[in-house]
This record gives sequence, C-alpha cells and structure tokens, in this order.
Amino acid sequence: MRELITNDLSMCVGCTRCLRVCPVEGANIAYDDGGSGKIKVKIDYEHCIACGSCIAACHHDSRSYEDDTERFLSDLQKGMAISMFAAPANRANGEKTGGRLLAWLRQMGVKKIYDVSLGADICTWAHIRYIQKEKPASVITQPCPAIVNYITIHKQALLPNLSPVHSPMLCTAIYMKKYDNVNDKIAALSPCIAKSHEFEATGFVDYNVTLKKLYDYIKKNRISLPTQESGFDHAESSLGCLYSMPGGLKENVELHLGKALRIDKSEGQSTVYKDLDEFAGRKGKQLPAIFDVLNCPEGCNLGTGCAHDRDKFEVNQIMDEARQKVLRGREKADFDKLYSDFDEALRLSDFTRTYKRRNIRALTPSMPQIEQAFLNMGKITEADRIFDCGACGNETCLDMAKKVACGRHVSEGCIQNEKHRIHDEHKTIMELSKINLQSTKEILSDISNVSNLSDKIAQSLSSVEAAMAKQNQMAEEVNDIAMKINMIALNASIEAARAGQHGKAFAVVASEIQRLADASKATVSETQEVTKQANASIKTMSTLALTIKGDLGKTFKNASGMAQKTEESISQDVDRDN
Ligand code: SF4
Ligand code: SF4
Ligand code: SF4
Repeated sequence: MRELITNDLSMCVGCTRCLRVCPVEGANIAYDDGGSGKIKVKIDYEHCIACGSCIAACHHDSRSYEDDTERFLSDLQKGMAISMFAAPANRANGEKTGGRLLAWLRQMGVKKIYDVSLGADICTWAHIRYIQKEKPASVITQPCPAIVNYITIHKQALLPNLSPVHSPMLCTAIYMKKYDNVNDKIAALSPCIAKSHEFEATGFVDYNVTLKKLYDYIKKNRISLPTQESGFDHAESSLGCLYSMPGGLKENVELHLGKALRIDKSEGQSTVYKDLDEFAGRKGKQLPAIFDVLNCPEGCNLGTGCAHDRDKFEVNQIMDEARQKVLRGREKADFDKLYSDFDEALRLSDFTRTYKRRNIRALTPSMPQIEQAFLNMGKITEADRIFDCGACGNETCLDMAKKVACGRHVSEGCIQNEKHRIHDEHKTIMELSKINLQSTKEILSDISNVSNLSDKIAQSLSSVEAAMAKQNQMAEEVNDIAMKINMIALNASIEAARAGQHGKAFAVVASEIQRLADASKATVSETQEVTKQANASIKTMSTLALTIKGDLGKTFKNASGMAQKTEESISQDVDRDN
C-alpha cells in the first residue's frame, strides 16, 4: 500500500502528540535519535491506516500527506482525457457552491464531471437490496478507506460484517465506466487522504485530487476562478448529497424504509475505532442492522483532505440547504421510483467488492519482556506501574511497557522515569554539596587562623620598629659622646703640646682617645645605616601583612556567603523531602 502520510523527521521534536491521537497500535515508533537522548517519532506504514489524525495533531510540520493533484494537473496539461467526480464535500470547502471550481476544472480540460451524490444514492440502494436479499446479521458501512484499513489490518474478525457495497465514490466511478461509457481516466475531487488506498485496491479511479491540495495550488499560483459557475454532467437525484455528514447514510435509508432498521452510528478517530473494538467484542449479542461509521468527526465535509476553511455550523447550514433543495416538492413515491429505476438499470453485483486481509507482524511481547521493559523504565512498584499519566503518548504504563518491549518506544520516553532520574541526580548533587559545605567551613576556619597570624606578625613588626627607633636614638647619643670625647682629646693634645717634654706622654694618650672617638663615630654611622635598611624592610613586611589580611577578609566574606547559600539550599531540599 502506498505510504500516504509523509513524515519529515528533521522537523520532529518528539512531543508525542501523534502517538496520543493515533488510533492503532504500533503505527508510530518513538526512537532515540542517534543515541542523543532526543526522541523522534516515525511512522510504521505496515500498521498505519492513513486516518490523518497525526497530521492535525502535529504542530511542527513533521506530518503531511501526498495525493495525485500534481500528476492530475500535469496529465491534463499534456492533453490526457480525464473525467471527474466531485464529492459532496466540494460544496462545503473553498468557494461558495463549488460551481466555480467545477468551471475552472472544465477550463483546464476535464471532460465530464459527475456528482458523487449519484453514487451515494446507488450506495444506499445497494445496501438496502443487499440487506433484503442476504439478511446479514449486522453490516458495518465502509465509505471510509481508513475504516477498511483498520478492519483488514487490525480487526480482521470484523471482515464478515464489513459491507460488501462499494463506497459512494466507487459507485460513481463504476456507474461512469460501466453504465455511462466514460472511457477517460477518472479523477476524484476528494475530501479524503485514504481514498488513494481504496482507488489502489479497486482499480477504478486513477487520481485522488484532494480539495486541500487543489485549493493550495490555486492559491499558490494566484489563479482566479471563473465567475460563471458550472454544474454536473449527471444531476443528483436523492439525499445522497448528505452522505458526507455524520448520519447521512441513516437519513438516506430512513427516507426509504422509515425506522424499519436499527442504524447505530459512530464517527471521529478518537471514538470510532474503540466502538469498532466493542462491536467486535459483542459476538452473539444484539447488534444494529447497520453500523454507520466515519473516520472523521464531522464526516467527509471536514475530512482529512479538506481545505477546512469553514466551521461545522456553516457546513451544516450548507448541507441543510442541499437537503431542502432535494426534498422540496417531492413525495416519498418519487424517491421510491428512483430505486425501481435502479432495480431495472443496475446490477447489484457491479457495486459490491471483496476485501483482502493484510497480515502484519504481531506486536505481542512476552510477560518477561514486559517485565524487563518496566524495569528499564525504572518502574519497580505496582503504584509506579499504574501511574498512567499519558505523557509518553500511551494511555497506560502497561501499553508503554509493551511498546518498549517491542522496540516501538524508548524507556527514556517515560516522564516518570525521567523524573526519578532527575531526582536521583539531584540527590547526588545535594550529597556533594554537603561535602563541599564541610570543606568550605574548614577552609574558612583556616582563613581565620591565617588572618589572626598576620595580625600577630603585624604587631610584632611594630614592636621591632619601635625597638629600632630606640636603637637609632641611642646611636645618636653615642655619636654625641664620641664628638665630645673628640673635643676633649683635641684640648688635651693642645695642653700636652704646651707642656712640652712633660706633656709628651699625655699627648700619646690624647691621640689614642681621639682615635677611639673616631672609631666610635664610624661604628655609630654604620649602625645607623643598617638600622635604616632594617626599618625599610620592616615597613614593607608590615604593608604585606596588612594586604594579606585585607585579601583574606574578602575571601572569607565570599566563601561565607557561598557556604550560607549552600546551607540554605540543603535545608530547603530537606524541607521539600519532608
Ligand atoms: S506530533 Fe509526532 S511527528 Fe509531530 S513533532 Fe510531535 S512527535 Fe514529532
Ligand atoms: S495516519 Fe492515523 S494511523 Fe497513521 S500514523 Fe497517523 S494517526 Fe496513526
Ligand atoms: S508514567 Fe511513564 S509510562 Fe506511564 S503513562 Fe506516564 S509517561 Fe507513560
């Protein structure tokens, strides 16, 4: 089957929204991108039913889809003979009635254009005749290929219930080819991405041209649609135009059979697949004659391939106008007449089909594998295993464990596991902080001791400085005494000279005294020089001691601040834990 949903992994941020909305097991695989710890999610096309939910859910442009719009336009330009049919949703998307779009398509070279309302009328007729003839227990309708995909891939037990009647689009294509001799290639103006799968499986339709892509092309190329509207080559006849809205089939059947059949309905990706599972689980219990199911919540009018430029109320208004137009001035007999015409003109077997099972690899891990997955996710206790927050994109932790066990998810995708990991890391950091705090306190005590020591050094140095000053003063006094002795020695030598021969010995003594006084003076001067140098060194040491004390003070303040903050954060953490 063609891979319709595109997946640009470079845009994927691993938000898991696609996982949350995906109605089927295993269609998305969450993986660790190159071991970087970044989670990305890719599609497993074997399991994907092309329901389109993930495109709407992805806010990061990672998911989109492909159809045949480009090939269709290019083939038209090459002059290929192409006819079309337009889904009823054409009225509810783009320009007002869809008539100007039809006019433009004809300008582009499309030969004939049929209204799928015709195929929807045939489809209702075929359902009624099939039920009357075969009397099946309960029929599941199949206008949505995503539903057919779900049953043929994931819920094969429902295959006997799946209606063999073709969808309205296929009924239109078959009518065109087999009853109206349209031999051109056939294109569908369609509201649905998954129709490509139906066309591929049945072979009647060559192009799935979705409304969204066609209007995107028109907008991008600034094309002005013709002002004149165009209609269909085959007019609508009954309420088939309502098939594109929830309950449309029911309304059609009731127009002919009243309330003779119980018809239940379900629509929307978040509901219909669960309802189908419940339906499958009701074996042997009472079931509706028809279970009318639609993949999209508002039916095909706001389908996966629609332009989505109107809200549901506007769309319902358009549908109601179409309903009133069909019913105006017509009686039930007129509609019954249409069915007798179909009985005469159409073969029921032309509008029925069979289905092929699509077998896939089972995703059923063993109990030990699930247990290992729980352990990898850090889930030891029962409480952890039923936490079921849904953040990983799964409804329950058990679902997640099964996916991890099958390699469809990674244990790092569990938010609770990540919370535990972060909590453990935080705990380790707190333990380290406590050790750091202890070391910081020891350093603070050392700083305080060194600071006291520098105080003492500074005090000792000032005592030494005072002693040196005293010593300098004493040297000055010795110098004075030496000068006085020198004067006395000079006077004594003058007196000795006056005494002549008698003073000779005294002159020798005076000269010796003078020599001693000179020697004392020289020693004093040397001492003063040494004292001066010692004073300079003491001053430098005092300054250094003061600088060290200042620096230590700043370091002490910073380290104390840090220690206080660490202490506060540890005590807050303890409070939190308590
Ligand atoms: S929705 Fe899915 S594909 Fe899109 S970004 Fe999130 S994880 Fe990726
Ligand atoms: S298209 Fe549907 S089935 Fe496929 S991955 Fe997206 S949500 Fe799942
Ligand atoms: S606790 Fe983990 S595994 Fe369970 S639902 Fe939440 S994220 Fe998923």
